[in-house]
Amino acid sequence: MSLSLALQNINGYREEMTQFMVDMLKIKAVNPDDGGSGEYERAIFVQKWLEKLGAKVSRYDFADSRVAEGVRVNLTTMIEGVDRTKTLWFAAHLDTVPEGSRDLWSTDPYVPVVKDGKIFGRGSEDNGQAIVSTLFVFKALKTLNVKPTFNVGFAYVSDEETGSKCGVIPMIEKNVFKPQDMAIVPDTGSKDGTEIEVAEKSILWLKITTKGKQVHAALPYKGLNAHRVGLKFALQVDELLHSKYSATDDLFDPPASTFEPTKHELNVENINTVPGLDVQYFDCRILTRYKLGDVMKEIENAKAKIENETGAKIDLTPIQFEENAESTPVNCEVVQKLRKALKELRGTEGRPVGIGGGTVGAFFRRKGIDTAVWSTLDDMAHQPNEYCNIDNLVNDAKVFVHVAMN
Ligand SMILES: [Zn+2]
Repeated sequence: MSLSLALQNINGYREEMTQFMVDMLKIKAVNPDDGGSGEYERAIFVQKWLEKLGAKVSRYDFADSRVAEGVRVNLTTMIEGVDRTKTLWFAAHLDTVPEGSRDLWSTDPYVPVVKDGKIFGRGSEDNGQAIVSTLFVFKALKTLNVKPTFNVGFAYVSDEETGSKCGVIPMIEKNVFKPQDMAIVPDTGSKDGTEIEVAEKSILWLKITTKGKQVHAALPYKGLNAHRVGLKFALQVDELLHSKYSATDDLFDPPASTFEPTKHELNVENINTVPGLDVQYFDCRILTRYKLGDVMKEIENAKAKIENETGAKIDLTPIQFEENAESTPVNCEVVQKLRKALKELRGTEGRPVGIGGGTVGAFFRRKGIDTAVWSTLDDMAHQPNEYCNIDNLVNDAKVFVHVAMN
């Protein structure tokens, strides 16, 4: 009975949700690692809204000298359940990536526009949709005075886009989330909403700095071409890793680990100079059956070999080194609840999948928390002209209400 009332309430919130999103997107929340001033103001906006509804909000501030306020803010609130030893969490992130090249936007990324059932603006889909849909789940439960079977928690976290060092990681260290808890992280998903992400590959971002000796390009024998050594090394690493770590797992798309040479820094300004320094990067997404330490050892062996052969010096610096936990079991409670909600509300079959990594789901899983990363998305994250589909906003909130109350 109260479930159908709660679902009705969500339908009735459509306009209010849209307006909330518009007001929130006007508050810039670009991560300081990406040159922004942080998500502080947006967090306070969310906190005030929750408190107006009578929520008891807990705040977790973590120091960051780069932002004007000196701290990064994280919020939680809760609807208490009959059983208070266990919490089903909804976790959304407050920060956004920058707008990227402004020329690619047809509207101002920080002046939200509502058009054709969509809300345009940076952060609208990633992760505004999750923030707004879950906040209105809170409102629906609170308004109807629902007492769920166990606690339903809501977490609005900072610093997700660049590693969660001022967000979920220190929150987990403070035991905000317990191993017996469950979590839904609405931060990836498919257009039809049938993909339920239960596993992420481990992530290794590697910076490779090769040092040789810079000379005039007409007399290369007097120097040591760091670019040539860098090229050789990159090709060797590429081949080595692909052949050594070739296992596949059909939960993932693609099923195998990936090892991609990506960024290359500018070396010399002119064509007639042999570069003495070469800086390049690899982005590796690795199945969790392999240990990142072992992968690094392989790369280090290759490095020693090429240093010997060429006389160049190579430094390896991991920029990200995220060893992910094993997958969330596909038959666990939170996945089953989601599948049931999808079946009953949409008549669709949810199917567990794995992704290349990069959500806070990985941190929850490491703590032992069964975590489903799920939402219905038009895949606009980090894109120019990012928008949130208002139907997804409302319909995902209904799925969350169903999960919370069943
Ligand atoms: Zn995101």
